[in-house]
Amino acid sequence: MAAIQDVLRQDIKLPSPPAIAVRILEAVRGDDSSFRDLGRIIAADPALSAKILRVANSSVYSLRYPVDTIEKAIGVLGVDQLKNIALSFVIAQGMRGSSEGEFSFDYFWRRAITAAVGAELVAERMGCKTQDTFVTALLMDLGIVVMYGWDTKGYLRVLGAKRARKEAIVVLEKRAFGFDHGELGGELLKSWGLPESIWRAVRNHHGGVEGAATSDPSGEVLVLADALSSIYHGSRASQRLAFVKERLTHLGLGAADVDALIDAVAEKTLEVLSSFDLDPGKLKPFSQLLQEANEELGKLNLSYEQLVMELKQAKEKAERLAEELAEANDKLQELAFRDGLTGLYNHRYFQDLLSQEVKRAVRYHRPIGLVMFDIDHFKKINDNHGHPVGDQVLKALARKIESLTRRTDVVARYGGEEFAVVLPETDAKGVGVLAQRLRRGIEQLPIATDAGELRITVSVGATCYDAEQGLCCKDELIEAADAALYAAKRAGRNQVGFQALALLEEKNAS
Ligand code: GH3
Ligand code: MG
Ligand code: MG
Repeated sequence: MAAIQDVLRQDIKLPSPPAIAVRILEAVRGDDSSFRDLGRIIAADPALSAKILRVANSSVYSLRYPVDTIEKAIGVLGVDQLKNIALSFVIAQGMRGSSEGEFSFDYFWRRAITAAVGAELVAERMGCKTQDTFVTALLMDLGIVVMYGWDTKGYLRVLGAKRARKEAIVVLEKRAFGFDHGELGGELLKSWGLPESIWRAVRNHHGGVEGAATSDPSGEVLVLADALSSIYHGSRASQRLAFVKERLTHLGLGAADVDALIDAVAEKTLEVLSSFDLDPGKLKPFSQLLQEANEELGKLNLSYEQLVMELKQAKEKAERLAEELAEANDKLQELAFRDGLTGLYNHRYFQDLLSQEVKRAVRYHRPIGLVMFDIDHFKKINDNHGHPVGDQVLKALARKIESLTRRTDVVARYGGEEFAVVLPETDAKGVGVLAQRLRRGIEQLPIATDAGELRITVSVGATCYDAEQGLCCKDELIEAADAALYAAKRAGRNQVGFQALALLEEKNAS
């Protein structure tokens, strides 16, 4: 890159320094009168004076007593320091143009001032702070402004590529122009007559023509200053933060000091920015950003937890409702199966259940019995005592039947005063026993009614399917039981009739 001067001379017309900068630089070149000359030049520009006093009194310089005149400021800060402050203002003010596309002059100078503040703070910690530190860091990227001014479209392409490809800006600059902004900026400041310590550091801050920038402390300061500024202004804040922490720790700073320094960069930059007539934008100390981010995160977490809670509650409620619904459905189902007066299974359920049980018995060659019975002369009870009393009798009878049967037996109200009991796993003998037990139990049952204690008898018809009998269906069982019941009625009531499935056997045989 020895040819940079040639490149510059041929291709880039370097901008001239702002007029007042030239005067400041000339003023401090002479030794004796520099104090007075510098003071006069600055004092001639009231806006510049005010800015300088503001920055001189800011925490950046931590003066013990406030200064209210330029002379006092020079007395306290020294000619070189004040020259640098003045140059910073003048150059930052003068080197502005119209922002276009990705490029914003405000952003550029905000970033440069943050770097300058960062450089001061880092150099202070490293014990290598000089009166040039601030201005060197402030101007280190000045080459960018020059490149942008010279070939706006070309430089916007470089910025676009940086964004798209995440390549280092200096690599892209070298590819596009043959040199990077550090080299260009260094040459510019050299041509403006700034001290060699400044232009050389600027020229090499990205490696430049003399190799690694971190080989000397001032180089390290600039690299760190650049990274510190990126924490607040760059798109790769987290990476830069990690880099800064690593470097500062390497330089012997404790974690708390590192954090304090990073915060101080923003705090002091905020003070200085207003002196440069720059809007601080959203600049805030890093710890504050972190805290705010955490608070936002906390809010998010809270509402997330609340959401989870609400979902959980909603789910529980839904499950509860589903359970209640299932119970209600069961009840409804049950009601559909049950007889409203007696609570026994109704006719429909009896038909379904008997059908299933008979099929099962046939398939597994198991016996099944069926008992049907009918209250004797029930009409008389209704006639003598009224229908409600007849109902009371039916209800009491239902409870009695249940108490006389097994749990596996299914008791149903077949019709008005007619009942049926399905007896799975019960053979002819068992059916006969139950039939008699029912008949006798009912006969002996005193029924308390509104019309006083009543007694009833029933006529019972019983039948049974035996696995030996082959195929069978529920209707055949009902038919047989019914026939047996009527046989019992005919035989004088209050007795048990039995009807085997004889007809079925004949059918099967034929
Ligand atoms: P049998 O000995 O021949 O069976 O004579 P029965 O009087 O019991 O027979 P019938 O079939 O002539 O009369 C049955 C009576 O049962 C007629 C009907 O009013 C009565 N009944 C049927 N269902 C109910 C009911 O739910 N409540 C009341 N109270 N009576 C009913
Ligand atoms: Mg009857
Ligand atoms: Mg009847």
